[in-house]
Amino acid sequence: MSAKIWMSSPHMGGTEEQYVKEAFATNWIAPLGPNVNGFEQDLSLFLNHDCHVAALSSGTAGLHLALVLLGVKAGDEVICQSMTFSATANPIAYIGARPVFVDSEADTWNMSPELLEAAIIDRIAKGAKPKAIIPVHLYGMPAKMEEIMAIARQYDIPVIEDAAEALGSSINGRKCGTFGDIGVLSFNGNKIITTSGGGALVSHNEQVVSEARFLATQARDAAPHYQHSKIGYNYRMSNLCAGVGRGQMEVLATRIEQRRNIYNQYYAKLNGKKGIGFVTEPDGFFSNRWLSTILINPAEAGFSREDLRLAFEKENIETRPLWKPMHLQPVFEGCAYYGNGIADQLFADGLCLPSGSNLTEDEMKRIFDVFDAFIN
Ligand SMILES: *Cc1c(COP(=O)(O)O)cnc(C)c1O
Repeated sequence: MSAKIWMSSPHMGGTEEQYVKEAFATNWIAPLGPNVNGFEQDLSLFLNHDCHVAALSSGTAGLHLALVLLGVKAGDEVICQSMTFSATANPIAYIGARPVFVDSEADTWNMSPELLEAAIIDRIAKGAKPKAIIPVHLYGMPAKMEEIMAIARQYDIPVIEDAAEALGSSINGRKCGTFGDIGVLSFNGNKIITTSGGGALVSHNEQVVSEARFLATQARDAAPHYQHSKIGYNYRMSNLCAGVGRGQMEVLATRIEQRRNIYNQYYAKLNGKKGIGFVTEPDGFFSNRWLSTILINPAEAGFSREDLRLAFEKENIETRPLWKPMHLQPVFEGCAYYGNGIADQLFADGLCLPSGSNLTEDEMKRIFDVFDAFIN
């Protein structure tokens, strides 16, 4: 059997080990330390929109802290994109708040601004104004942030921008993660860059970011003894992980180019074939193409997403259906949902393809051989 081709595996640049070695040499093994500060600076320079950054243990931790910082409480309602990974919605449940799921729009596969407004109006009419809105940039494609922010401002509801999949994506040059009141990034092992596990919280408001750092380190008051006036969390990134992150930041621009190049190869090969569709960039939108994805219309193509997935599996090539929408998840059964059928359609017909920046020419050839058996 040929070696496994993964959908998205870690891809080191080369200098990561140096930063980690330095941490060993100076005994900065404990959490915090110079790599954490350096990584936060690298990120804030990269995002380049007057943003402050707190490096955390995961993106999920970032989303949880964002909700805490915005004062979301048990019983509150939070609007959340339905088409996403469960990590977007779980922190709402950690707090005891209630997710209200909103469907996607066809252009970007992300939160529909029209449905968002309809949901806000209906929730207010039912007596519970949502306390936050969480749009997501799926697979690196930016959500329609300008429209979403305009609606959020009109109803005075803060926005948590889940940019876990979209580091380096932008709209008219403005980076994803800098649109919302709070942005969240992830450096999990399968993301475009990784710290083996990690995340970050981003905000224009320096006070919010320093409060995030405070809560993420057990909320210790300024006192020689251990004193606490607030519930804290152990959510800070370690100095070792941040060392990996600093090395990864040196190759982020290259990784984006490589992922976009993989997407372009799929597009050149498959666009125009009967029943195969792509999510393309609206004017001014730039996707990091974290994952390349396609839609298969089985009636037109003569084969289904599942036929294709099983054929790849036989060749030891990993592919996956798109995220199963949150409104279809057993754990969120009974939650409010404002739908238009798009997320259901994406889940039925969508497939994530191998997209790693470390894919070789030979591996791409093996992938295209599988396609050839279907489309010729
Ligand atoms: C990966 C991911 C997260 C969670 O990030 P972790 O660092 O794995 O906790 C959140 N939201 C989305 C959309 C993700 O893809």
